[in-house]
Amino acid sequence: MNITRHLDADSVCTLTFDRAGSSANVFDRATLEELDGHLAALEKVPVLRGVILASAKDKIFVAGADLHEFVRDPDPKILGGIVDLGHRVFNRLHHLPSPSVAAIHGICLGGGCELALACDWRVGSDGKETKIGLPETQLGILPAWGGSVRLPALIGLPAALGLILTGRQLAGVPAKKIGLIDELSHPEYLLAAARKLLERGKRPAPAFRAAHLPIARQLVARKARADVMAKTRGHYPAPLKAIQVCTAALGLPADAGFDLEKTAFLDLIRTPACRSLLSIFFLQERAKKLSPPVAAEPLPVRRVAVVGAGVMGAGIAQWASARGLPVILKDVAPDALARGLRTIETLFTEAAKKRAFTPAEAAAGFNRVTPVYAAVPLTGVDLVVEAAVEKLEAKQAIFRDLEKHARPDTVLATNTSALSIDAIAAPLSHPERVVGIHFFNPVNRMQLVELVRGPRTSATTLATALQFTKAIGKLPVIVNDSPGFLVNRILMPYLVESVRLFREGHAPSQIDRLMLDFGMPMGPLRLADEVGLDVAQHVAQDLARRLPNPMPADDTLTQLIAKGWLGKKSGCGFYVHAKGAKSVANPGLSTLFTPPPAIRDSSDEECVDRLVLIMINEAARCLAEGVVAAPEDVDFGMILGTGWAPFRGGPLRHADTLGTVAIVARLDQLAREVGPHFAPCDLLRSLAKSERGFYPTSAHPV
Ligand code: NAD
Repeated sequence: MNITRHLDADSVCTLTFDRAGSSANVFDRATLEELDGHLAALEKVPVLRGVILASAKDKIFVAGADLHEFVRDPDPKILGGIVDLGHRVFNRLHHLPSPSVAAIHGICLGGGCELALACDWRVGSDGKETKIGLPETQLGILPAWGGSVRLPALIGLPAALGLILTGRQLAGVPAKKIGLIDELSHPEYLLAAARKLLERGKRPAPAFRAAHLPIARQLVARKARADVMAKTRGHYPAPLKAIQVCTAALGLPADAGFDLEKTAFLDLIRTPACRSLLSIFFLQERAKKLSPPVAAEPLPVRRVAVVGAGVMGAGIAQWASARGLPVILKDVAPDALARGLRTIETLFTEAAKKRAFTPAEAAAGFNRVTPVYAAVPLTGVDLVVEAAVEKLEAKQAIFRDLEKHARPDTVLATNTSALSIDAIAAPLSHPERVVGIHFFNPVNRMQLVELVRGPRTSATTLATALQFTKAIGKLPVIVNDSPGFLVNRILMPYLVESVRLFREGHAPSQIDRLMLDFGMPMGPLRLADEVGLDVAQHVAQDLARRLPNPMPADDTLTQLIAKGWLGKKSGCGFYVHAKGAKSVANPGLSTLFTPPPAIRDSSDEECVDRLVLIMINEAARCLAEGVVAAPEDVDFGMILGTGWAPFRGGPLRHADTLGTVAIVARLDQLAREVGPHFAPCDLLRSLAKSERGFYPTSAHPV
């Protein structure tokens, strides 16, 4: 049973969602049918003053539809049946003769939000757990249980598209501001506030909106479409369909609008983009539940220390303290420590502005960070994350020191980007305590963490690092201790190849545009500028020394670095980055490299192949070498770590779309015509030989 029904003496009925055996309420077929049964019973109650929909869960109203139902049986008849069922049940709620109120505390997304929209009124809690929105387009579909019809009618087309096209999740206050909820309440008084709303009776028909006149609607739709195209380059069909349906439904009776929703949903669910986006969603769920490869009891982590208060250290300290952990933040340079603290304060202030925290919570979070400059005992600390300079000797010295000052059972982690965990641990008496916890920059925005298992890392150390990573809300991928781990290893050949293309005479803007068109969030040369050309050069050289198939790098970066052009941080790299202005092409490049040697005039198509296939080849090597356990890990890591064209599902899923036979043929051709570094790796060759892909198919189930 997922819903309980309670009829009070004053003839108000409360339907409370409380999914058995789960911390979340979700809508599956059974829950919809159960709700239908309750509504049928309520229709027979002779005197009913109103219905309140509430949740018994702490942090969740209704989290949305059970997406497993959409992939379990993709038969359009079955999927259409689920859409019809949702429409029928939510309409039944909408048309109850007595008023209905959704009392929302916690997550109210997708189908949960559509349930709330079918009620006459909505009251939301002002608790920070409350998040209301329609994220369907981010999964390649659209709200299809009435959301695309009811939301525009309720809050107006422009505001509704603002929510539906971005999947933005609103806290109570902004939700009230745009009219998505009618009242705001402290969580404790939510049900009382809901009862009060019932006194308003059924909701009157919406007022006239000039923005909904046909001509105005078309203007809004045209602008929304242009924005979507600029952002997505047309790779994502869902937002475009959502604009069509929301706009058209406003001029139609509700039932006709629901039909449009259904048709659009059934079209979208079949698209490769939707399949890829859903698979990413499932990979995220998988990461949240990841268990260690070797079973071991994790040690509790109640206090942490971060060594190094630079870009990463400050970010990690803020993130951990924001999740309730007291943090000691240590640096050898007092000014760096002061800068780190200012960064942490800014991060908390910004989070409070976005209502992720109350001002009091933000202040408490900031106060949980204790800055230290001198050596202090670390016996109260359960886990240390080292984020000091990327130099092996420096890190070894820090770890030797940590071994002296921390408890014997304290887990010692490093945030190194690419150094060997085993080498860092080598001087220790107990190297099994050392593990990599590789956060990405910026820590507060990047969900992925690579957990790097050294050859001597103990099962308990890894289990503790994994538990810690999940507890602070990051998504882990477990990788073996190999040069560059997973993400940097695959990214580096791509960056180096983009530099080679530049050196062959292609403009940075052309190279970057091609990869934006492919679906990357940023072009490779702009990314190199962001990372820092000196950092990129250092990592590329380090990988070239340690990998068996190194990328042949030229002297381009060395020359740029010698000019002091280090990328964004120095104001100049492949682009000129002036504060407050749009970055523009660096005019000095043409003098530095005149005349452009134009060694090879690659077509656009060849440029893209060179940049994409080089990553696929490296990704295949990572899999073959066991850097990660499965193709899913590669795709998950690259999408979350670099924003790798999500609609393509990651490099290995994309490889399967292209076909390994075609990839090997093209790589062989590039190896002949461009350079031997394109030679396909053994795994790609053997997959192509047996006409298989990286993922199982019905023809090749394993
Ligand atoms: P950073 O230069 O911004 O900060 C390093 C800090 O460490 C400085 O404040 C320095 O004073 C301090 N430090 C140096 N020696 C120390 C010691 N012995 N004890 C305590 N503090 C010491 O560097 P960063 O960008 O924050 O990188 C830190 C680590 O994280 C590096 O290993 C780097 O490879 C890795 N990393 C960086 C990024 C990134 O994008 N910046 C991303 C992932 C991982």
